[in-house]
Amino acid sequence: MTTTALPKHARAVVVGGGVIGCSTAYHLAKLGWGDVTLIERKQVSSGTTWHAAGLVTTLRDTESQTWLAQYSLKLYEELEKETGQATGFIKCGSIQLAIDEHKAEEMRRGCAMARTFGVENKEITPGQVKELFPLAYVDDLVTAFHFPDDGRVNPADVAQALAKGARQNGVTIVENTKVDDVLIENGKAVGVRTEKGDVKSEVVVLCPGMWGREVGLMCGVDIPLQAAEHYYLISEPIEGVHNRLPILRDPGRCVYAREEAGKILLGFFEPLAAPWGVEGIPENFCFDEIQPDWERMEPHLERGMQRLPILFDTGIRQFFCGPESFTPDHNYLMGRAPFVDSLFVACGFNSLGILSGGGAGYVIARWINDGIQPMDIWDVDIRRIQPCHNNKSFVVDRTYESLGIAYQMHWPNRQWETGRNIKKSILHDRLTAQGACFGESAGWERPNWYAKTGQKPEYDYDFHRQNWFDNNADEHRAVREAVGLFEQSSFAKILVQGRDAERVLNRICTADIAMPIGKVAYTQFLNIKGGVEADLTVTRMTNECYLVVTAAFTATHVRAWIVENIPQDVACVITDVSGAYAMLSVQGPNSRALLSQISSATFSTESFPFGTMQQIEVGYQSAFAIRIAYTGELGWELYIPTEMTLGVYDRLVEVGGEHGLKHCGYHTLNSLRIEKAYREWSHDMGPTDTLLECGLGFTCAWDKPGGFIGLDALREQRLSGPLKRRLVQILVDDPEPILIHNEPVLRDGERVGFTTSAGYAHTLGASAAMAYIKHEEGVTDEYIVTGNYTLEQADRTYNARISLTPMYDPTSARTRS
Ligand SMILES: Cc1cc2nc3c(=O)[nH]c(=O)nc-3n(C[C@H](O)[C@H](O)[C@H](O)COP(=O)(O)OP(=O)(O)OC[C@H]3O[C@@H](n4cnc5c(N)ncnc54)[C@H](O)[C@@H]3O)c2cc1C
Repeated sequence: MTTTALPKHARAVVVGGGVIGCSTAYHLAKLGWGDVTLIERKQVSSGTTWHAAGLVTTLRDTESQTWLAQYSLKLYEELEKETGQATGFIKCGSIQLAIDEHKAEEMRRGCAMARTFGVENKEITPGQVKELFPLAYVDDLVTAFHFPDDGRVNPADVAQALAKGARQNGVTIVENTKVDDVLIENGKAVGVRTEKGDVKSEVVVLCPGMWGREVGLMCGVDIPLQAAEHYYLISEPIEGVHNRLPILRDPGRCVYAREEAGKILLGFFEPLAAPWGVEGIPENFCFDEIQPDWERMEPHLERGMQRLPILFDTGIRQFFCGPESFTPDHNYLMGRAPFVDSLFVACGFNSLGILSGGGAGYVIARWINDGIQPMDIWDVDIRRIQPCHNNKSFVVDRTYESLGIAYQMHWPNRQWETGRNIKKSILHDRLTAQGACFGESAGWERPNWYAKTGQKPEYDYDFHRQNWFDNNADEHRAVREAVGLFEQSSFAKILVQGRDAERVLNRICTADIAMPIGKVAYTQFLNIKGGVEADLTVTRMTNECYLVVTAAFTATHVRAWIVENIPQDVACVITDVSGAYAMLSVQGPNSRALLSQISSATFSTESFPFGTMQQIEVGYQSAFAIRIAYTGELGWELYIPTEMTLGVYDRLVEVGGEHGLKHCGYHTLNSLRIEKAYREWSHDMGPTDTLLECGLGFTCAWDKPGGFIGLDALREQRLSGPLKRRLVQILVDDPEPILIHNEPVLRDGERVGFTTSAGYAHTLGASAAMAYIKHEEGVTDEYIVTGNYTLEQADRTYNARISLTPMYDPTSARTRS
């Protein structure tokens, strides 16, 4: 029952009684965590949840987000039977409309992928749209897609049903009580402080919706989100409008529509939004609306109503504006908070909180209960957030763009336009002068490709070959045949130091890092199930100092993983030195000759073998060089103190011409590594892919003293017969198509997986990709070679070859020579 009495102790405290908090408490209770207290500052659902439009549509961008929606749909359908509280669920289906060929292509691709994830959908004609939704104007449609299983709910009732189900299973819900602080002792959340007293607990889960940033600041966790105005209108009753009408989603006009008690509800995702509550959300906010700015919205209104022209002749009963929170990359903020034990977060749902809420609560509860995430949710994992993302001006500025992105074109390689230039390398201006077209990752501006003379360094987006295709081809060729220069200063660089640094790292690295000074290990961090949590290099700099290098976007996760695995009372500290060093990677067969010309060091195989590090000098400057390659060619990474970088760069460029040096961007790094079947963490491997499944078992020091986290799981998997899923490389026969990722893979006509990353393999002459192939009886070498493979993209099918080994492989000859 709802009570105002606040317990002194609970096994878990959930902060926030919106759909997410209620779902989390419900699922914890279902897992036997009866002793859960949910604390809500006002009343259940009184934040954002009560006024949501309640669409539960399942076409989402990724497998995990699709799963969250599918789970929610099923849960909301069944919740009334279990709790006696209706959710207003109606399986009305949904239709998505395309008004131009680009959107049609995007949707065909998305729908092909969604079918792989079990989302039923069918392309339909404008005439069929009219049959399903007679009030719709369809003359401008190119095509449409029907999702018969989608549905809608009454969000306030969903929250109440989840709350009721939670209470029935022992959860205490305390309303009208604000959490003022999260109690932390020795880096662990141990409860919360409220105006009515403290509640001690083993676990704290923050589900505070648009109050997320504010609540995060209480406990030092970056939760970057910002509320924005979010609109819909409800018409007067219209004859013939009934609750079986499907939901209509119209990205071209940035609107959606559904029936609402015989009326039409028309909702908006305008391209340029308006942040709200920037100076703070009013203390008394409870079931409140926002004063609408209809002047700003008028053009969107006009355009949206054209989809249902009857609205022009019908009165508008209600203009509604309510706040919803949006995040800088339009993905949720879920999972284990970094750097604070026993603290979990689930908020920032970007107007998708109802349709994801059931699944989100399930995932968080399972994560807490099992000590490990039940599925790979990296795209929404809070550990992708960097401190710079929580800068208030940035969050506010990005919100203008973030709200509308859901209904914009989802172009491959699309770059954010707002909130740019947070971090620039010291070479930024020089690279601009070279024609760099920058993309953003983890706040860093990074050259993605270099424009030729007379070409603008700007993207011309397309689903097929984009305007940088030829630039990429030239850069790719330069690395294969001469030498390429990559500016990769964004790499996260972490020093792990102390008497026990070796012991700490050896427990979490798959490789044996009890190695001589100057040796470099390519290694992974695994979880207890053998899933890959990080992919990195570890270099022994001195006896008590290691340098850990990883991709910029994984910096928070990797740092947190190390910190969490430093036992008490050992001598080991970590320091992020990412900004202290720039990194220039010199890759290609001529890299040796080039570096030999600018440095007195010896770069021969004997003096400077693969997988080693040496301090080198370049003119007056010094750097440490690591012989390693992510390109499949001979190459070195130069880590240069930032203040010495200009000199080294200038020298490289000065003499580079003699060796065929070419500036190369991240798109080229990607095309080279995919051609060589090098994996990228978060695409080709993640927490639910074991090291064996992703084909990196060779990094394991199986017999190292003390083992490492995940070793037992890998041993068990090794003994349990052929792997049921394995990562393979794919090459399409047709040289024309551009693969992106998420393309379904078929073996003898049967779906066996989908691509995880892709790029144009210029040396091989076609698009290549990585993909997990699944087969219950085992993905054996024989299984691989005996199948005929095809790839689906939109409504097209391409023949393809697949291989467990890299199709481009001059490995020994070139990389290690
Ligand atoms: C106009 C509109 C239409 C929408 N339509 C849809 C839709 O069709 N489908 C869909 O999936 N989503 C939709 N959404 C989005 C959806 O409503 C939200 O994503 C979802 O409700 C978020 O749930 P929540 O639990 O995270 O946040 P909330 O519902 O806001 O819950 C957070 C709760 O935390 C409480 N809280 C905060 N701080 C504290 C504290 N310090 N102590 C105690 N309690 C605290 C708040 O009072 C609040 O009740 C829509 C949103 C809007 C505005």
